[in-house]
Amino acid sequence: MSITTNLNNITSQLAEYVTLVAVSKTKPVSDLMEAYKAGQRIFGENKIQEMVEKHEQMPKDIEWHMIGHVQRNKIKYMASFVSLIQGVDNFKLLKEINKQAIKHNRIINCLLQIKIASEDSKFGMSNQEAVNILNSFEFRELKNIKVTGLMGMATFTDDEAQLKKEFTHLTQTFNTLKEYQTNNCKLETISMGMSADYRLAIDCGSTMIRVGSSIFGDRNYLI
Ligand SMILES: *Cc1c(COP(=O)(O)O)cnc(C)c1O
Repeated sequence: MSITTNLNNITSQLAEYVTLVAVSKTKPVSDLMEAYKAGQRIFGENKIQEMVEKHEQMPKDIEWHMIGHVQRNKIKYMASFVSLIQGVDNFKLLKEINKQAIKHNRIINCLLQIKIASEDSKFGMSNQEAVNILNSFEFRELKNIKVTGLMGMATFTDDEAQLKKEFTHLTQTFNTLKEYQTNNCKLETISMGMSADYRLAIDCGSTMIRVGSSIFGDRNYLI
Protein backbone atom coordinates (compact mmCIF):
# COMPACT_ATOMS: atom_id res chain seq x y z
CA MET A 1 0.00 0.00 0.00
CA SER A 2 1.18 3.49 -0.77
CA ILE A 3 1.86 6.19 1.79
CA THR A 4 -1.01 8.22 0.36
CA THR A 5 -3.45 5.31 0.71
CA ASN A 6 -2.29 4.54 4.24
CA LEU A 7 -2.63 8.16 5.26
CA ASN A 8 -6.10 8.53 3.75
CA ASN A 9 -7.25 5.33 5.45
CA ILE A 10 -6.21 6.66 8.82
CA THR A 11 -7.37 10.28 8.50
CA SER A 12 -10.77 9.30 7.08
CA GLN A 13 -11.47 7.41 10.31
CA LEU A 14 -10.36 10.10 12.71
CA ALA A 15 -12.72 12.39 14.58
CA GLU A 16 -12.03 16.05 13.93
CA TYR A 17 -10.66 16.65 17.42
CA VAL A 18 -7.87 14.09 17.02
CA THR A 19 -4.59 15.39 15.59
CA LEU A 20 -2.44 13.01 13.57
CA VAL A 21 1.31 13.34 13.89
CA ALA A 22 2.99 11.45 11.04
CA VAL A 23 6.08 9.90 12.61
CA SER A 24 8.69 10.02 9.87
CA LYS A 25 11.90 9.10 11.74
CA THR A 26 14.44 7.17 9.63
CA LYS A 27 12.36 7.78 6.46
CA PRO A 28 13.73 9.70 3.46
CA VAL A 29 12.44 13.15 2.49
CA SER A 30 10.81 11.64 -0.62
CA ASP A 31 8.50 9.60 1.64
CA LEU A 32 7.65 12.65 3.73
CA MET A 33 6.94 14.61 0.56
CA GLU A 34 4.45 12.00 -0.55
CA ALA A 35 2.61 12.42 2.74
CA TYR A 36 2.88 16.20 2.39
CA LYS A 37 1.33 16.07 -1.07
CA ALA A 38 -1.49 13.97 0.37
CA GLY A 39 -2.21 16.83 2.77
CA GLN A 40 -0.22 15.92 5.89
CA ARG A 41 1.34 18.94 7.60
CA ILE A 42 2.43 17.63 11.01
CA PHE A 43 5.52 15.43 11.19
CA GLY A 44 7.18 13.88 14.23
CA GLU A 45 10.87 13.08 14.53
CA ASN A 46 12.84 11.67 17.46
CA LYS A 47 16.33 12.96 16.58
CA ILE A 48 17.03 16.66 16.49
CA GLN A 49 19.71 16.47 13.79
CA GLU A 50 17.45 14.50 11.47
CA MET A 51 14.56 16.88 12.05
CA VAL A 52 16.75 19.91 11.32
CA GLU A 53 17.92 18.41 8.02
CA LYS A 54 14.38 17.54 6.93
CA HIS A 55 13.10 20.95 7.98
CA GLU A 56 15.71 22.61 5.78
CA GLN A 57 14.73 20.55 2.75
CA MET A 58 10.96 20.67 3.06
CA PRO A 59 8.14 23.24 2.68
CA LYS A 60 7.94 25.76 5.47
CA ASP A 61 4.27 25.30 6.33
CA ILE A 62 5.08 22.00 8.06
CA GLU A 63 4.73 21.73 11.83
CA TRP A 64 7.64 19.77 13.29
CA HIS A 65 7.13 17.87 16.53
CA MET A 66 10.04 16.55 18.55
CA ILE A 67 8.71 13.30 19.97
CA GLY A 68 11.91 11.72 21.26
CA HIS A 69 14.00 12.15 24.33
CA VAL A 70 15.50 15.64 24.27
CA GLN A 71 19.11 16.39 25.15
CA ARG A 72 19.42 19.81 26.66
CA ASN A 73 22.53 20.82 24.70
CA LYS A 74 20.77 20.22 21.37
CA ILE A 75 17.65 22.32 21.93
CA LYS A 76 19.34 25.30 20.30
CA TYR A 77 19.37 23.59 16.91
CA MET A 78 15.59 23.32 16.70
CA ALA A 79 14.52 26.35 18.74
CA SER A 80 13.91 28.55 15.70
CA PHE A 81 11.28 26.32 14.12
CA VAL A 82 10.04 23.41 16.27
CA SER A 83 6.31 23.72 16.86
CA LEU A 84 5.85 21.24 19.72
CA ILE A 85 8.35 19.47 21.96
CA GLN A 86 6.49 16.42 23.22
CA GLY A 87 8.94 14.64 25.48
CA VAL A 88 9.68 17.16 28.21
CA ASP A 89 10.31 15.21 31.38
CA ASN A 90 12.17 17.56 33.70
CA PHE A 91 12.28 21.18 34.77
CA LYS A 92 15.84 21.84 33.58
CA LEU A 93 14.71 21.02 30.07
CA LEU A 94 11.87 23.54 30.29
CA LYS A 95 14.33 26.16 31.49
CA GLU A 96 16.66 25.55 28.57
CA ILE A 97 13.79 25.52 26.04
CA ASN A 98 12.66 28.84 27.48
CA LYS A 99 16.17 30.26 27.20
CA GLN A 100 16.50 29.23 23.56
CA ALA A 101 12.98 30.45 22.74
CA ILE A 102 13.90 33.91 24.09
CA LYS A 103 16.81 34.05 21.63
CA HIS A 104 14.37 33.56 18.78
CA ASN A 105 11.74 35.82 20.28
CA ARG A 106 9.09 33.12 20.24
CA ILE A 107 7.07 30.89 22.49
CA ILE A 108 7.69 27.16 22.22
CA ASN A 109 4.85 24.79 23.03
CA CYS A 110 5.70 21.74 25.12
CA LEU A 111 4.01 18.61 26.42
CA LEU A 112 5.03 17.15 29.75
CA GLN A 113 5.86 13.48 29.37
CA ILE A 114 4.25 11.43 32.11
CA LYS A 115 5.55 7.96 32.86
CA ILE A 116 2.68 5.56 32.26
CA ALA A 117 4.52 2.39 31.23
CA SER A 118 5.56 -0.31 33.63
CA GLU A 119 8.88 -0.74 31.82
CA ASP A 120 11.90 1.01 33.31
CA SER A 121 13.21 2.12 29.94
CA LYS A 122 10.51 4.65 29.22
CA PHE A 123 11.21 8.25 30.13
CA GLY A 124 8.73 10.46 31.88
CA MET A 125 7.86 12.10 35.17
CA SER A 126 5.42 11.09 37.87
CA ASN A 127 2.15 12.93 38.44
CA GLN A 128 3.64 14.46 41.56
CA GLU A 129 6.69 15.78 39.71
CA ALA A 130 4.38 17.41 37.16
CA VAL A 131 2.30 18.99 39.93
CA ASN A 132 5.45 20.28 41.61
CA ILE A 133 6.63 21.90 38.39
CA LEU A 134 3.30 23.50 37.51
CA ASN A 135 2.92 24.80 41.07
CA SER A 136 6.35 26.33 41.30
CA PHE A 137 7.13 30.02 41.14
CA GLU A 138 10.14 29.27 38.93
CA PHE A 139 7.90 27.67 36.32
CA ARG A 140 5.67 30.71 36.09
CA GLU A 141 8.69 32.83 35.31
CA LEU A 142 9.29 30.91 32.06
CA LYS A 143 7.43 33.24 29.74
CA ASN A 144 8.69 31.83 26.43
CA ILE A 145 7.34 28.33 26.82
CA LYS A 146 3.79 27.10 27.02
CA VAL A 147 2.76 23.73 28.38
CA THR A 148 -0.17 22.71 26.20
CA GLY A 149 -0.71 19.12 27.28
CA LEU A 150 0.64 15.76 28.32
CA MET A 151 2.33 12.95 26.44
CA GLY A 152 2.68 9.28 27.31
CA MET A 153 4.37 6.17 25.96
CA ALA A 154 2.61 2.95 26.84
CA THR A 155 4.36 -0.34 27.55
CA PHE A 156 5.45 -2.29 24.47
CA THR A 157 2.82 -5.02 24.71
CA ASP A 158 -0.28 -6.27 22.95
CA ASP A 159 -2.06 -6.84 26.26
CA GLU A 160 -5.10 -4.60 25.74
CA ALA A 161 -6.04 -4.49 29.40
CA GLN A 162 -2.59 -3.24 30.31
CA LEU A 163 -2.61 -0.61 27.54
CA LYS A 164 -6.07 0.53 28.55
CA LYS A 165 -4.92 0.93 32.12
CA GLU A 166 -1.95 3.05 31.08
CA PHE A 167 -3.88 5.23 28.63
CA THR A 168 -6.63 5.80 31.18
CA HIS A 169 -4.00 6.75 33.73
CA LEU A 170 -2.77 9.53 31.43
CA THR A 171 -6.29 10.85 30.84
CA GLN A 172 -6.94 10.88 34.58
CA THR A 173 -3.68 12.72 35.16
CA PHE A 174 -4.69 15.22 32.49
CA ASN A 175 -8.05 15.79 34.20
CA THR A 176 -6.33 16.39 37.52
CA LEU A 177 -3.66 18.73 36.16
CA LYS A 178 -6.07 20.72 34.00
CA GLU A 179 -6.80 22.97 36.96
CA TYR A 180 -3.25 24.37 36.84
CA GLN A 181 -3.88 27.23 34.48
CA THR A 182 -1.31 29.97 34.24
CA ASN A 183 -0.06 32.29 31.50
CA ASN A 184 2.30 29.56 30.35
CA CYS A 185 0.16 26.51 30.99
CA LYS A 186 -3.14 25.45 29.53
CA LEU A 187 -3.57 21.73 29.09
CA GLU A 188 -5.47 20.84 25.93
CA THR A 189 -3.63 17.92 24.35
CA ILE A 190 -3.34 14.29 25.39
CA SER A 191 -0.72 12.72 23.12
CA MET A 192 -0.88 8.93 23.23
CA GLY A 193 -1.31 6.06 20.80
CA MET A 194 0.91 4.73 18.01
CA SER A 195 0.36 2.49 14.97
CA ALA A 196 -0.63 -0.62 16.90
CA ASP A 197 -2.83 0.97 19.52
CA TYR A 198 -4.07 4.40 18.44
CA ARG A 199 -7.73 3.34 18.24
CA LEU A 200 -7.64 2.11 21.82
CA ALA A 201 -5.80 5.28 22.85
CA ILE A 202 -8.53 7.44 21.30
CA ASP A 203 -11.19 5.40 23.10
CA CYS A 204 -9.31 6.17 26.31
CA GLY A 205 -9.18 9.92 25.67
CA SER A 206 -6.29 10.64 23.29
CA THR A 207 -6.51 13.84 21.25
CA MET A 208 -3.17 13.43 19.47
CA ILE A 209 -1.85 10.20 17.97
CA ARG A 210 1.70 9.58 16.78
CA VAL A 211 1.64 7.12 13.89
CA GLY A 212 4.71 5.98 11.97
CA SER A 213 4.82 2.47 10.50
CA SER A 214 1.12 2.34 9.60
CA ILE A 215 1.77 5.30 7.28
CA PHE A 216 5.34 4.85 6.07
CA GLY A 217 5.84 1.10 6.50
CA ASP A 218 8.25 -0.69 8.78
CA ARG A 219 11.45 1.06 9.75
CA ASN A 220 14.77 -0.52 8.92
CA TYR A 221 17.33 0.65 11.42
CA LEU A 222 20.17 -1.21 9.73
CA ILE A 223 20.44 0.93 6.62
C1 LIG B 1 8.47 5.84 16.72
C2 LIG B 1 7.51 6.50 17.64
C3 LIG B 1 6.12 6.49 17.38
C4 LIG B 1 5.50 5.79 16.19
O1 LIG B 1 5.62 4.40 16.25
P1 LIG B 1 4.86 3.44 15.21
O2 LIG B 1 4.67 2.19 15.95
O3 LIG B 1 5.75 3.31 14.03
O4 LIG B 1 3.56 4.10 14.85
C5 LIG B 1 5.30 7.17 18.26
N1 LIG B 1 5.79 7.83 19.34
C6 LIG B 1 7.10 7.87 19.60
C7 LIG B 1 7.56 8.61 20.80
C8 LIG B 1 8.00 7.21 18.78
O5 LIG B 1 9.31 7.26 19.06
